[in-house]
Amino acid sequence: MRIEHLRQRLRAAGAKPCHEQLVLRSWTQARPLDSGRDRPEDFFPAPVRAALPALTDELHALARLRSEHPGEDGSARLLVELADGQTVESVLLPRDGLCVSTQVGCAVGCAFCMTGRDGLLRQLGSAEIVAQVVLARARRFVKKVVFMGMGEPAHNMDNVLDAIELLGTEGGIGHKNLVFSTVGDHRVFERLPLGIVKPALALSLHTTRADLRAELLPRAPRIDPAELVELSEQYARSTGYPIQYQWTLLAGVNDSDEEVDGIARLLAGKYAVMNLIPYNAVSGLGFTRPTREHAEAMALKLHQHGILTKLRQSAGQDVDAGCGQLRARAIVLKSP
Ligand code: SF4
Repeated sequence: MRIEHLRQRLRAAGAKPCHEQLVLRSWTQARPLDSGRDRPEDFFPAPVRAALPALTDELHALARLRSEHPGEDGSARLLVELADGQTVESVLLPRDGLCVSTQVGCAVGCAFCMTGRDGLLRQLGSAEIVAQVVLARARRFVKKVVFMGMGEPAHNMDNVLDAIELLGTEGGIGHKNLVFSTVGDHRVFERLPLGIVKPALALSLHTTRADLRAELLPRAPRIDPAELVELSEQYARSTGYPIQYQWTLLAGVNDSDEEVDGIARLLAGKYAVMNLIPYNAVSGLGFTRPTREHAEAMALKLHQHGILTKLRQSAGQDVDAGCGQLRARAIVLKSP
């Protein structure tokens, strides 16, 4: 279901804009419709009231919790079942964040990612994306949503931007706390500046070498890393939010001094943060993470070059933290 379908259903039942707004606000904030003075019997016309129970059931069915896997770092990975039985992953992050999925599977096929192995299975509708936030909010407070779960948001642009607009308005989430994450696509730089709600941008760079990038991200658009940084910089300057560059650290692949020099050249003077994320090994994919000392040394060298760098851990490392691992394991466990 898309958010527009939900609006159409409400309008067809006779809802006025104020009724539509109350339903969407209650839903996105995981608050019951009958709380306080906004009780349905006081506020909604009879035909809308009659339509609400079925609609509420449908909204609940958009994203149900299949299983929850708490990590030692305060995160929790959620395996979320959609109405058609497909599953995606969301991650409750420490400090009130949530990572959501935008597709079942992914067409980019990153060499180090479990989600990319089976290609794209289907898009998530905008309401299914928001439903992951609602599911999380029913469990704990969420003030930041990052679109970094399964899928490439740029490949499902209309649904992701509709979800961002709703979350940044009725959902009450600060615009810079909505983080659109992409491997880089011209459509992102064309569409994001036009939105009512302009999210922050995270760009998965992973290497400064165009040839290596084509190997690691085989079906990402062939845009030179230098051009990606220039396009991102324009967006950062127009929104006032720094770009968060994502760099999955793969031992012996993209953790060399040459890459440090390349990053220093590309990001010098840019409004940006470099996030180094040591790889979470996935068996069978052939990549390993560098040692903690090596990762720390790389971060230090970047600091010495004047690049604001953070060495991060993927949330919930002890619970299959690589995106897609939880879903893959669930499928394996379900198989005869
Ligand atoms: Fe897709 Fe992200 Fe996995 Fe790459 S890392 S295949 S973009 S889900």
